[in-house]
Amino acid sequence: MIVGRPPCLIVVLGTATEVGKTWVTTRLIELLRSKDKSVGARKPAQSFDPPGRGLPLPTDADLLAASSGASAEAVCPPHRWYPLAMAPPMAAEALGAPPVLIDELIAELTWPGGVDVGFVETAGGVGSPLAVDADCARFAMMIRPDLAILVADAGLGTIGAVRLAVGALAPLQCVVFLNRFDPADELHCRNRDWLRTRDGFAVHTDIAELAQVCVP
Ligand SMILES: [Mg+2]
Repeated sequence: MIVGRPPCLIVVLGTATEVGKTWVTTRLIELLRSKDKSVGARKPAQSFDPPGRGLPLPTDADLLAASSGASAEAVCPPHRWYPLAMAPPMAAEALGAPPVLIDELIAELTWPGGVDVGFVETAGGVGSPLAVDADCARFAMMIRPDLAILVADAGLGTIGAVRLAVGALAPLQCVVFLNRFDPADELHCRNRDWLRTRDGFAVHTDIAELAQVCVP
């Protein structure tokens, strides 16, 4: 049971870390808000490089907050910010914080009223630990989303990574977004076509097109 569950709940996962989940999510939020949709974002837990000298880099929660018009603390509860670049439950352990448990992450996933579309960005790849007792795939199943967006690279190696990730997410309804897709790159085009025709996956390469899939 998710408190205040939006009518359309979308989970965003990646084939690996750094494939662009946050970029895709913030762009979708901006596009949907420009069409007068009320959009919210959540990041159940986040880890990041500890601030060094100079200006600290914005965290995923900061970026999601800026695009959705919320506070970063509403996007990700402050006790789920782990300043150590490891999977959140590993970072928590290394920092001496309490263990990250899946039931607690789900209980913390609350929404204000009036949100049309809610995005939940996971951490790392589909099989990365999000809690000591669940990976991102299991978390995605447990929140019963209306749609799962799998963000993948467009280049070499993506077919294998996408197949494994979609398999781990079955039976969720899943669409694939090939990020950093270059229509002039023959490999990118062949990867897209192979995933569509041989695997029958819903594959998008254009963010505006993907935004249309997100509208209930
Ligand atoms: Mg991210």
